[in-house]
Amino acid sequence: MDTDERQRRYDRAADLVADLADRDVIVVAITWVDHSGITRVKSVPLRRLPDAAAHGVGASPVFDAFLLDDSIVAGRHAGGPVGDLRLHPDLDRITVLAGQPGWAWAPADRYDRDGVPHPRDERGFARAMTDRMAVHGYDVRAGFEVEWVVGQPGDDFVPATTGPAYGHTRQVELSDYCADLVAALGEQDVEVLQFHPEYAPGQFELSTAPEEPVRAADTAVLVRETVRAITARHGMRASFSPKVVADGVGNGGHLHVSLWRDGRNLAGSGDAESFAAGVLRHLPGLCAVGCASVASYLRLVPSHWAGAFAAWGVENRETALRVVEGRDLEVKCFDLSGNPYLVVGATLAAGLAGIVDGLRLPEPVSVDPVHVAGVPRLPLSLEEAVRAFEADEVLVEAFGPEFAATLVDVRRGEVARFAGASAEEVARVTRWRH
Ligand code: GLU
Ligand code: MG
Repeated sequence: MDTDERQRRYDRAADLVADLADRDVIVVAITWVDHSGITRVKSVPLRRLPDAAAHGVGASPVFDAFLLDDSIVAGRHAGGPVGDLRLHPDLDRITVLAGQPGWAWAPADRYDRDGVPHPRDERGFARAMTDRMAVHGYDVRAGFEVEWVVGQPGDDFVPATTGPAYGHTRQVELSDYCADLVAALGEQDVEVLQFHPEYAPGQFELSTAPEEPVRAADTAVLVRETVRAITARHGMRASFSPKVVADGVGNGGHLHVSLWRDGRNLAGSGDAESFAAGVLRHLPGLCAVGCASVASYLRLVPSHWAGAFAAWGVENRETALRVVEGRDLEVKCFDLSGNPYLVVGATLAAGLAGIVDGLRLPEPVSVDPVHVAGVPRLPLSLEEAVRAFEADEVLVEAFGPEFAATLVDVRRGEVARFAGASAEEVARVTRWRH
C-alpha cells in the first residue's frame, strides 16, 4: 500500500464520518477471525476512522497462535511477543450495527507496518482463492447457514424456549427476539433467505443470499455477531458451538457454493461435477479447516444430520456433500468453529484441483450412509483431520507452507488442551467461545 493509496483511504473514510455520525455511530469495531475461529477486535472512536483506514490499527501477530480458550501455542512461525500488524478496515463493508446502538463494524485486512499484506491474513487467503477461480474463468457465489441455540443466562445451557423442533411455538415464545433479529439484519443490508427453529432444543437457523466469497465470509461474521448482540439485548445467550451439550444434535455452519460463468449458474455441468469431486477428494484435510475444534468431532457423528460421511448425494442430508440440483453444492460437515474465510478459500482450492484434474464424481449415495457398507467416515478426531491436512498437497500448497504449519500448530494446541477431557468437559469449555 503506497502513500497515494493511504491518502485515498483517509479521504474516503473522512467522507464517511459525517454520515456515520448522523446515524449516531460513536465507535467502530474492526474485526478479523483468528485461526481458532474466534472473531477478535480492535475498536476506534469514529473520529479516528480516517487514520485507521490509512495506517491501520495495531494488533500483534501473536493472535495467529491463539487457541479458543485464549491460551497461546508456541508455533513454528507464530506465537512470539514481537512485531506489529495493522488492521485496515474495509470501507466497502462498513456497517452500522442495528443490534449495538452507537456501533459500526468493518472487517479488517491485516497488513504489516509497511503496507505489505500479512501472509497469514485470512481474508487475503479467501480473496486469493477467489482470484484463482477467476483466472480459470469461474465466478463463485457462496453463503453460510448459521445455526445457534438460545439459552438462558448462565454457563450451563438451559434452552430459552421449550417449543418443539421446527415448531412455531419457539417463534411465539421468542416473538420479539426473532422479529428484532430479522429486522436488524435487514437494516444492515444482509439479505436473509430463511429463518426457522431447528432440531435441537432452543436451536434456530438463518440463511443468507449467495454472494461473492469474501463478502459471504464477512456476512457470516456479521450475522453471527448480530445474533449474539440481539440475543444479549433480550437477556439471553447464543451458542454457536458445534456441540452445545455432549449429547444431541449440534450447530452446523454449512457452506453453499455455486460456480457461474457469464451470469449463468454452471450447476449440473461437467465443471460443477469436477469441482464437487475435488471437494470430495479433499474432505478429510478440509475438516481440519472447517471442523476446526475438538468439539467438532463430537458433532460429526452419523444420524445427527452433520454429514459425517465422505460421500455425496442428491438432497442427502447425511452425506458431507449435498447436491441441490440446479442450484449449488452444500458442504454440510463444516461448523462455525471454522474460520469462514479459510473455509471458503480452502473449499475453492479443493474444488479447483478437481476441475484441473478433470475428476468425476462416483455414484451418489441415495440412502442414509450408516446403512451402506464401505462408505468412509470423515476423520473421527481433530488429530486425524490434522494429519489428513498435513498430507494434502493441494491444501498445503494453497495456504503455503508457513500458513499451513501455523494452522496445524493451532489445531494441535487445541488437541493437547483437551487431552483426556470428557465430552462434557469439551462441550463446556467450547460452549460460549465461538
Ligand atoms: N444441526 C445439523 C448440523 O449439525 C444440521 C441440520 C440440518 O440443517 O440439516 O449440521
Ligand atoms: Mg439446519
